[in-house]
Amino acid sequence: MKEEIFTGLKDLFFPQKCVLCRKLLKSRQRHICPECAKSAPENTRGLITDTGEFFSGCTAPYRYDGVVREAVHRYKFNNLQGYCEFFGEKVAEVVDRDLAGKFDIITWVPLSKAGRRKRGYDQAMLLAMATALNLNDVAAETLRKIKNTMAQSGMTGAAERRANVMGAYEVTDEELIRDKRVLVIDDVMTTGATLGECARTLLMAGAKEVWCAVFAYAGK
Ligand SMILES: [Zn+2]
Repeated sequence: MKEEIFTGLKDLFFPQKCVLCRKLLKSRQRHICPECAKSAPENTRGLITDTGEFFSGCTAPYRYDGVVREAVHRYKFNNLQGYCEFFGEKVAEVVDRDLAGKFDIITWVPLSKAGRRKRGYDQAMLLAMATALNLNDVAAETLRKIKNTMAQSGMTGAAERRANVMGAYEVTDEELIRDKRVLVIDDVMTTGATLGECARTLLMAGAKEVWCAVFAYAGK
């Protein structure tokens, strides 16, 4: 009990923990600690163009590994929506570096209604909004998830993942994306099946080109 009160007080007065490793931050350290700034698994490939169908390329600040993977899990499953601030800053950095001038509209991979109800928030929407904010832009809803799919993380093969998300999305307003170059944001890219299906849906509805950006890239 004593320990709980102590922890509670500590969190109250020093609530800032490193988003990646959860060590307490010193004042003036923002989001992550100096060790994580140095050693977190970065995406060293820059703009990745050899994966995923229907979109031209995907950029990411990090690889989906170690502390980054754990942070994404907390962001998605432990109600730590506040992480979108740091995630959005990092995604904005790489979008600015790799995709500046290549898109007209920012959007995200939506959860289904049931998924949103279960989680209480749409993590990709928050990430897209935070990213856009850092780019002095706004994120717009262009896709809706119309099929409840199984979790992609439970699937092993690329074909299985593709089949799982096939036909899962529809465009909310075709006027919004017609002849536009669209930037689609998500938290993680693994095989690119989900982003590919979103891109296919956008292209079929009249979008000109699709680029993607994620916080963490799980490929090779
Ligand atoms: Zn850290």
